[in-house]
Amino acid sequence: MPADTVLNQSIKYIKGVGEVRAKLFSKLSLFTVSDCLTFFPREYEDRTALKRITEVADGEECSVRAALASEVTESRPRKNLRITKALVTDGSSFLSLTWFNQSYIKNSLLNGQEYIFFGRIKRTGMRMEMQNPVFEKAESQGKQTGRILPVYPLTKGITQNHVRGLTENVLRLVNGKLEDILPLPLKREHKLCEINFSYENIHFPKSLAHMEEARKRLVFEELLLLQLGLLHAKGASAEQTGIRFPHIPMEPLLKALPFSLTGAQQKVFDEIEKDMEAQKRMNRLIQGDVGSGKTIVAAMALYKAVKAGYQGAFMVPTEILAEQHYQSLEPLFSSLGISVRLLTGGMKKKEKEEVKRLSESGENDVLIGTHAVLEDDTLFSKLGLVVTDEQHRFGVRQRARLSIKGDNPDLLVMTATPIPRTLSLVLYGDLDVSVIDALPPGRKPIETYAVDNSKRERIYNFIRKKVGEGRQAYIVCPLVEESEEIEAESAEGLAEKIRDDELKGLRVGLIHGKMKSSEKESIMRAFVTGELDVLVSTTVIEVGVNVPNATVMVIENAERFGLAQLHQLRGRVGRGSHQSYCILFNQSKSSISRQRMEIMTKSNDGFVISEKDLELRGPGDVFGVRQHGLPEFKIANLYRDMEILRSVQGVVKEIVDKNLLDGNADYKRLKDRLNEVFQQRFKELSLN
Ligand code: ADP
Ligand code: MG
Repeated sequence: MPADTVLNQSIKYIKGVGEVRAKLFSKLSLFTVSDCLTFFPREYEDRTALKRITEVADGEECSVRAALASEVTESRPRKNLRITKALVTDGSSFLSLTWFNQSYIKNSLLNGQEYIFFGRIKRTGMRMEMQNPVFEKAESQGKQTGRILPVYPLTKGITQNHVRGLTENVLRLVNGKLEDILPLPLKREHKLCEINFSYENIHFPKSLAHMEEARKRLVFEELLLLQLGLLHAKGASAEQTGIRFPHIPMEPLLKALPFSLTGAQQKVFDEIEKDMEAQKRMNRLIQGDVGSGKTIVAAMALYKAVKAGYQGAFMVPTEILAEQHYQSLEPLFSSLGISVRLLTGGMKKKEKEEVKRLSESGENDVLIGTHAVLEDDTLFSKLGLVVTDEQHRFGVRQRARLSIKGDNPDLLVMTATPIPRTLSLVLYGDLDVSVIDALPPGRKPIETYAVDNSKRERIYNFIRKKVGEGRQAYIVCPLVEESEEIEAESAEGLAEKIRDDELKGLRVGLIHGKMKSSEKESIMRAFVTGELDVLVSTTVIEVGVNVPNATVMVIENAERFGLAQLHQLRGRVGRGSHQSYCILFNQSKSSISRQRMEIMTKSNDGFVISEKDLELRGPGDVFGVRQHGLPEFKIANLYRDMEILRSVQGVVKEIVDKNLLDGNADYKRLKDRLNEVFQQRFKELSLN
């Protein structure tokens, strides 16, 4: 039978499975032979380490080779409990063995026979004990002991031995017949092992080194398929027909602005304009550091869409941000004859209905909102452009959902999370990327200091001084309320304390994510209008909030935040003409923490910071990869596999540059495999 046919074969027909168990296996998404092969162990149990009984330590898992030293005994202390005990020896010492409710043991252990016992050691009194050990005759061992065994995720009714048995039989079935989709030259160059070897050794490795080899190859393959797949999706969306917007003179809008565009903003808008005027549908990501002026670039695109006779939607992750965008864009747009409405989850039902009606009838031009915009009953009469701000809060799927609302509207996503290129290819491989790589002129770099508690009084005096000069300050805490378990400053606790004590006399507000949204908004509004001097908050203010008069950002327990996040928080100040300051309270003495604080004090460049953070912590921590709506990996792990990802990206580049998929026979299998994968997985991933 050709390998393909075998791979798609139902596991029902595998030895020892049958209808009933197949049904149980299906709960683990195991249907076919191929599913079993890629059902990777979550960890391994190394049963190869053979120990003398004198050497075993409390808590370790190991094997011993020993024989009975006395009769096996059995007791029944309770109705449902049967305890079987044996004492064994390897000549060096004695070991007690205990089994619970496994009475068949009594008859299967023979006097004078050597066995290998494997289990976890527990010290009970003076003696070492193994509980529920598995065992095999020493001369015929090799199934349960003396090897490395895989540990799989399970479901009710399925044991490790069931899955192990299944995998073993599946491997026997495909033994040597799997075709390698990776071209030979590629495997040579990157020292990747052969596919049959890989599957055998990922499930039943001969050694942990074999397992690592196998894993490397399988990770490589998975990442390669993903990257090529994303490129394909990008290609497909490039072919998607979108709206061909006419050229619209931008002067009226530009004249209404209190500043002129930076070169970087103009360059990015030119790219957007070109996309919008082309037949193809725009799928563009704008990256720009905090304060680089993304909003106005989005406004220009929206202006263009509306003047061309379409509607626009501007979607943001929080109500506060939606409201701020609304407040800054509404006066600008209405002076240019464009109607703007706000739509958020917290609005009254009646108001929402009215906004939705205006949107559906086409009477309203631009809709600014939160996820509520995604609700199914928000309709548009002629949606031409969708902008999403702070993209890292939206998954690919949500983008896809929004984009089907109109007739293939153009799509612009904006993010302030500077993403190193390596990772942005994984996260946004399906988007074209523009970067606003300069800040508006006249911005003074934010002076940043990392301090410990000994400076606390000075910091509060500093805040007083700045407030005295008419400025405002933020104090960000990692927690909302005091916690027994976590030793960190809470917003509620700190606000209460400084109101009565250190900052007595100043107007101190409190805002956090557990508040009702109406409450949050009124506090935020009070800060924006200057009715509050100091805002104590959690990270709810992280995204996008714009209060140019605020010049001091104090971050409590800064060691608990990611650098990208610290940078984002710091970006809340330095937005006006006054010199701004960021003070990081670092409560950790670890050297990594000190290094991270130092990066913050030395650099104001989000890209530099996130590269460094990536080096120090790995991508999962830095960006919360799950949020990005990426497909779940079967084996790759971006925390661990950054190196492999880098080599894969090199390979992908070469494949594309040399057009290897079409032109080279070595790559035919890879290409076929990709076509298969696209049909399944990228249907949901791509934006159509
Ligand atoms: P972000 O990229 O973080 O979203 P914003 O769009 O909120 O940044 O812009 C930050 C601030 O800079 C706003 O107050 C905005 O009015 C101002 N700004 C934007 N572009 C310019 C420019 N070209 N010159 C001067 N100020 C600008
Ligand atoms: Mg913004």
